[in-house]
Amino acid sequence: MPVVVAKQLEKTYMAGDIAVKAIQKVSFTIEPSSFVAFVGPSGSGKSTLLNMIGCLDPPTAGTLEVIGQDISSLNRAQAARFRGEHIGFVFQDFNLIPVLTVFENIEYPLQMVQNWPKEKRTIRVQEMLKAVGMADQGHKFPSQISGGQKQRVAVARALVTSASLVLADEPTANLDHKTANHIIALMKEMRDEFGTSFIFSTHDPKVVNNAETIFTLEDGQLLQEDSGGNHV
Ligand code: ADP
Ligand code: MG
Repeated sequence: MPVVVAKQLEKTYMAGDIAVKAIQKVSFTIEPSSFVAFVGPSGSGKSTLLNMIGCLDPPTAGTLEVIGQDISSLNRAQAARFRGEHIGFVFQDFNLIPVLTVFENIEYPLQMVQNWPKEKRTIRVQEMLKAVGMADQGHKFPSQISGGQKQRVAVARALVTSASLVLADEPTANLDHKTANHIIALMKEMRDEFGTSFIFSTHDPKVVNNAETIFTLEDGQLLQEDSGGNHV
């Protein structure tokens, strides 16, 4: 079963009386254990598309299935629950909670969204810390680690609940080029280890080298695709 199936997907925002067609008739399929980049200039619709896949913003038209679920049929509470169970997020500004340690930041979704018991949580968090190369950094606070390390923590937090899908909207925007490539490589390693599908967006063509499928957006439309057979 594909993790995402979009058919003739559209999103139109109303800005006063003016309709902004942020996504126009976009169709694609993403398989499990994929590593996919949506590339395009600022304003091309990348965030709009990722927000729809992440059940944060409903489509205006078309159909969107995420992990077999038609997401347009979910109400707000159901969408929130679905996100908590199936989808991890990595943001460009890391979004770590400053008053929690690295360990506690990764533990947070297990506590808040999935309500795991303490011992099970500790084992899982340690496993994730190790997976992202931060095994000895769990006691530090976000202010005590580098940008690249913060993004490693964000990747661990996105994966800790065993999400089938991780969405990363410009995850490298606030990182230098070398660190950006390290984070993309780390996400790919995590895909190999856990079989999670990763979908990230970027406007930086230099960081897409590791992507296996590249979708290019321009003015809300899908321009081209790789040779993998996902037809527009
Ligand atoms: P990207 O992430 O590629 O920079 P976005 O998805 O943020 O692009 O934006 C796509 C288009 O939709 C832009 O023209 C943007 O101005 C518009 N847009 C995005 N969000 C809103 C909104 N909440 N209301 C009105 N227009 C929006
Ligand atoms: Mg954006």
